[in-house]
Amino acid sequence: SVSVTLKNISKVFKGFEGNDIRAVDDVSFNVNPGEFVTLLGPSGCGKTTTLRMIAGFETPTKGKILIGEKDVTFIPPWKRDIAMVFQSYGLFPHMSVGNNVAYGLKMRKVDKNKIKEQVSSILELVGLKGFEHRPPSSLSGGQQQSVALARALVVEPSVLLFDEPLSNLDVLLREQMRVEIRRIQKKVGITTLYVTHDRTEAMTLSDRIIVMNNGKIMQIGSPNEVYEKPNSKFVASFMGKIAFFPVEINAVEPGSIKVTIKGKELILKKGIKISENVKYVLGCRPEGLYLTAPKKGHIEGRVLTNVYLGNYVESYVETEFGEIMVKTEAGTSGGFEEGAAVSVVIKEELAKLIPDD
Ligand code: ADP
Ligand code: MG
Repeated sequence: SVSVTLKNISKVFKGFEGNDIRAVDDVSFNVNPGEFVTLLGPSGCGKTTTLRMIAGFETPTKGKILIGEKDVTFIPPWKRDIAMVFQSYGLFPHMSVGNNVAYGLKMRKVDKNKIKEQVSSILELVGLKGFEHRPPSSLSGGQQQSVALARALVVEPSVLLFDEPLSNLDVLLREQMRVEIRRIQKKVGITTLYVTHDRTEAMTLSDRIIVMNNGKIMQIGSPNEVYEKPNSKFVASFMGKIAFFPVEINAVEPGSIKVTIKGKELILKKGIKISENVKYVLGCRPEGLYLTAPKKGHIEGRVLTNVYLGNYVESYVETEFGEIMVKTEAGTSGGFEEGAAVSVVIKEELAKLIPDD
């Protein structure tokens, strides 16, 4: 497999009033051979435009795109050795599943017997063995997306691109397909770029995640890095529920950082490099907090709502820092009635400093 490299890529569209729409703004990254990388960000942040430039459907306003060592910036899509899977499957409705998958091979004038062999083996890989003669309309949404994936893979491209391929599927199917895509990608070992606005999808699938906002890259890292060591409040919030507290940094020591919040000292594990001229807030995820009976020196609050979710309870607590969600395992003593006065306690080992942007 090959690498994909973007160097200072920008894309500016012209709006209806002749205004500039900066869809992608100076984006640089590298996808290693065989790696699964996801572009994650809110709707309109430039994910699809980035992917379409890699596929060759759009030309960058600025910058360079390399596939392996080769500069493909101005090379048309069909000469790029790339396959793409879309949200809307894009199957030919009048063709059988087999002919849909065979399409790319027929275009390449591959020998008939060879086509038959490859189609049946790729259908087996995506779990649709023996579906050759079925019309796509007789398949479920998930199965149709598997056909689209088979059609993309059968031509053995160097790079596979996905644009929100699971968005049209219901929740259960989406979870199954995630696991399938991951399994198949690892088995084939193909370099993959995947676009989604769904953080759970990004977390489960990816070797690395590129978080985007407003056409720019906010952070690149493993799922664990972007969740545990977000470099901004934006990334921290986008990766999951989190409460922010104002803190004072008192001392930075080799393995730990001493901070105070409301006059109480906390000793944090050293996660990120602390810079002198940056302001920080303390970020706490719901599992990094717990509730106690009112206790001096801790954040005071009142339970607004408890949401029971089977294995745990989400308590929404009103505090001087706004509404905070605290996650407690169901059936433990950590639960309080709605309306109860409580204190919110920060688990020091899970709290993290985040640059205040
Ligand atoms: P995403 O896939 O992250 O939702 P897009 O890449 O589709 O975002 O869009 C990024 C921005 O570029 C949006 O503001 C969108 O409206 C704009 N945009 C995308 N394609 C075009 C186009 N062909 N013409 C004008 N504006 C576009
Ligand atoms: Mg999009």
